[in-house]
Amino acid sequence: MRNPTSFLSEEYEELVEKSLDWRLKTLYGPSEPFSNVDGREVIVLCSNNYLGLTTHPRLKEAALAAIETHGVGSGAVRPISGTMDLHMELEERLAKFKGSEAALTYPTGFMVNSGLIPQLAGRGDLIVSDELNHGSIIDGVRLTRADRAIYKHNDTEDLARVLDEAENHDPEYRRILIITDGVFSMDGDIAPLDEVAKLGGEHGAMVYVDDAHGEGVLGKGGRGIVSHFGLDHNEVQVEMGTFSKAYGTIGGHISGSESLAKFAWNKSRTWLLSSSHPPPVVAATIAAIDVLESEPQHVERLWRNTKRFKKAVEDLGFDTGMSQTPIIPLIVGESSKAKRFSDLLYDEGIFVVPIVFPMVAQDRARIRVQMNAKLSLEQLDSVIETIEGTGKKLEII
Ligand SMILES: *Cc1c(COP(=O)(O)O)cnc(C)c1O
Repeated sequence: MRNPTSFLSEEYEELVEKSLDWRLKTLYGPSEPFSNVDGREVIVLCSNNYLGLTTHPRLKEAALAAIETHGVGSGAVRPISGTMDLHMELEERLAKFKGSEAALTYPTGFMVNSGLIPQLAGRGDLIVSDELNHGSIIDGVRLTRADRAIYKHNDTEDLARVLDEAENHDPEYRRILIITDGVFSMDGDIAPLDEVAKLGGEHGAMVYVDDAHGEGVLGKGGRGIVSHFGLDHNEVQVEMGTFSKAYGTIGGHISGSESLAKFAWNKSRTWLLSSSHPPPVVAATIAAIDVLESEPQHVERLWRNTKRFKKAVEDLGFDTGMSQTPIIPLIVGESSKAKRFSDLLYDEGIFVVPIVFPMVAQDRARIRVQMNAKLSLEQLDSVIETIEGTGKKLEII
């Protein structure tokens, strides 16, 4: 007789054997650069809360006030009765902030990619994707009937080759969609979006950028990668992002033309069939935009810390790969070494995660540091000192 559930423990045990299982660490308190993690006071350098906005007083006050005026839940999906004045206000504010005609929010960033990409391209179309794009893009692409082509990471010559080949496809493709991450989450490098947009323009292709890690980080006042390259939404037609990283709350979104927004909300099942954000989340996100517009010091401090840290670790001899952003990998080689490095740092009071095969190539295991605006220079220097000592102990430097 077949056992219907034995695969659950078998496959789990297999992951444990290969050390590929996730062991959860618990924060006792808010997401902050200084936190109690599993009962230990540590500096957290593996959160996406780059600017420390998760605990910003203006966001917290806005959330509390919205609970008083609007309650804790929205009660429905957006198209039924789940659209509140707060949701409309957030989208107006976001569009203004991004300099786009329109903006639309989704429950999460993952739901933008998995719900919108399959609507933008289908049978008879081509999706062209960077080889290191985020898993949510990969899943979105898997849900389409479009042909797919992968280009080498950030290699615009290879992208041009793929687009040239696509010109000769018979029958001619109806639509071509180019998708790239803005900032790549494992290496912290930036997509050459200006060149990608230029190639898109030359080939009549639509350009879709996932700027999850670039928002609140790149561009004027943290406006993101489209602003960073001085582009507009005629050149990059879909600017996608999330409020779950530097904005400190949660929620996916797109910015672009009015017709994009209308198309997206009428077609994406993840938008139509999943409930809208609770009022405190929406109000806190509006406050996050207020903060980005009126308190430039957070983005400035993030970059000050990023530059100081990167220079220091490089001077010590660490390999930071292609990093150009507050995502700074310290590449050590073997998986076991990366794990040991992270364990020792945790014992010394620094919480960072090892990133190992299959997330990165076998010989490129690393710990990934995500810099935070809230660290003072003294705190940063003490982090650097600890990393130096541990790196020497493990003969990484
Ligand atoms: C985090 C992330 C997402 C998912 O965003 P959520 O709002 O957390 O679902 C999508 N794309 C990229 C590149 C990301 O880093």
